[in-house]
Amino acid sequence: MDFINIASGSKGNCTIVSTKNTMIMIDNGLNIRTLLERVRLANIDLKKVSALLITHEHSDHIKGIAPLLGKYSFPVYCHEQSQSGLDAKVFPYLACQNMDIPFEIGDIQINPFRLPHDSNYNLGYRLSDGKNTIAIATDLGSMNDAIFDNLKNSDLVMLESNHDVQMLKNGDYPFLLKQRILSKNGHLSNDDCADTISKLTKTGTKHFVLAHLSQDNNTPELAFECTEKALYKQNIKEGVDAYVDVAMQFKSMQKINLE
Ligand SMILES: [Zn+2]
Ligand SMILES: [Zn+2]
Repeated sequence: MDFINIASGSKGNCTIVSTKNTMIMIDNGLNIRTLLERVRLANIDLKKVSALLITHEHSDHIKGIAPLLGKYSFPVYCHEQSQSGLDAKVFPYLACQNMDIPFEIGDIQINPFRLPHDSNYNLGYRLSDGKNTIAIATDLGSMNDAIFDNLKNSDLVMLESNHDVQMLKNGDYPFLLKQRILSKNGHLSNDDCADTISKLTKTGTKHFVLAHLSQDNNTPELAFECTEKALYKQNIKEGVDAYVDVAMQFKSMQKINLE
């Protein structure tokens, strides 16, 4: 399976997971011009998209979907509690699928799982082609055993590393917004992400992608170092025993090919 994050953060999210025969896009919060430019650079043909999975109805995850559907045609999978947030143009493309149970698209098995977030509903996804497994969880205020069970034993995990707690606390955000981000239904901190990743390495996961970094309360260096240090405490060397990438807002990452 191939994995590539096209964009990550509060200004727009898009990730693509593919096998030889199936291509799945997860969210699209990018305008069509930006998306087309980035997929062109990554050598991805959007005509091959088999389906689009929506995590939740916040605009940074869905605002680019309706314009895309004017140009391309593929089914859109969305939990029924998030559907009220969608542009009406998306409705004709909605797949009739219970998003609380596993299902298949082409040769990829999809396991949706719930994440605690201040949206109507939010889903993480575990995707497997029988050989490799990729798990994706962003926009979650807290980690719990049920989420961990859906991430563990994967070959690659993309996990939110949203903010440095001190940067957020000392920063300019209004008090209520800080409280919202720090709450159990807000966004996951660097520390909580790093702690989870160091536990996941014990289940065999080797590839990690830190995602949905705040532009104001984090830096790619801080997020990376926080996870790197947590791994080092477990005697795991980044770049040798485990690999950590940072998904960016303003450019795509390098495609990761899992064998
Ligand atoms: Zn988001
Ligand atoms: Zn959100």
